[in-house]
Amino acid sequence: MMPDGKASPILNSEISGCIRPIEITEPFSLPNGTCYRDIEEDIRKFNALSLQTTVAGLLHESALFLFRQFGWLTIQEIYLSRNPGKTPELIAKSRCRCGNIVTAPLRMLVDGSLNDCGCTTPLPKQEANKIIVYQSERPIRWTTTVDGIQWFGSRYIWFVTLTVGQRCFVRKYADTAKEALEIRRDAERQYFGRSIIDQYYEIMLAELEELEQIYVRRHPPEVPGISWDKTEKRWIARLWYRGKWILNKSFKTRKEAAKARYEAEVRYLGESTMPERYYV
Ligand SMILES: [Zn+2]
Repeated sequence: MMPDGKASPILNSEISGCIRPIEITEPFSLPNGTCYRDIEEDIRKFNALSLQTTVAGLLHESALFLFRQFGWLTIQEIYLSRNPGKTPELIAKSRCRCGNIVTAPLRMLVDGSLNDCGCTTPLPKQEANKIIVYQSERPIRWTTTVDGIQWFGSRYIWFVTLTVGQRCFVRKYADTAKEALEIRRDAERQYFGRSIIDQYYEIMLAELEELEQIYVRRHPPEVPGISWDKTEKRWIARLWYRGKWILNKSFKTRKEAAKARYEAEVRYLGESTMPERYYV
């Protein structure tokens, strides 16, 4: 049992995510938004927090992570969550590059298991219940005219939420616009007793499907982690997970490589980055 007000240290075996430690002392970002940082140093600093015995000391020391960038997430606030019966945990409130706001345990950002709000990579399944995604308040390219439905173009999927006040009742991905609309409609029916979607179903569906078609036409999907090896004349499929290559194999055809990547994502991430139909 962790003493009250302490942060539990991150073990090496827990380190995950696609993060390359490099020899720098200051974090910096590339123009494309990728952030490289000294992960070992971050973990040392995070673990040093566990020496703090008071809540005030803990919050004060955790300020060194404020306004830092972890993948696509920039930390804006850090606070202590003290749910009854549970170990107190430092929570980071961050803004994702896509505009969404995410709250998640600080340790998940530090150990690299969380790099974005779910708009670029699947959220870690086992800890998904600790992550809350709030839709961007400003109209950005990901939002749609249907309340609570977003298009994650970078993953070619739909994201559905139902948030009432501070509570999030639904937080689901959907492969198709139809599925997304139905998830939201059912959630509204369940929560409010009726849904505005019933009245405008056809119009809303047509609009969402059109958005997806336009996006896919302009940005043809590319299977991540596969490449052509010129020397060997073979296709390579890779997946980096929890600090190591769990898939690094060559195949005769592109199709086989894409299939291997899809299967590895489902097996290790719990779901694929894009709907299965795009792994071709
Ligand atoms: Zn995002």
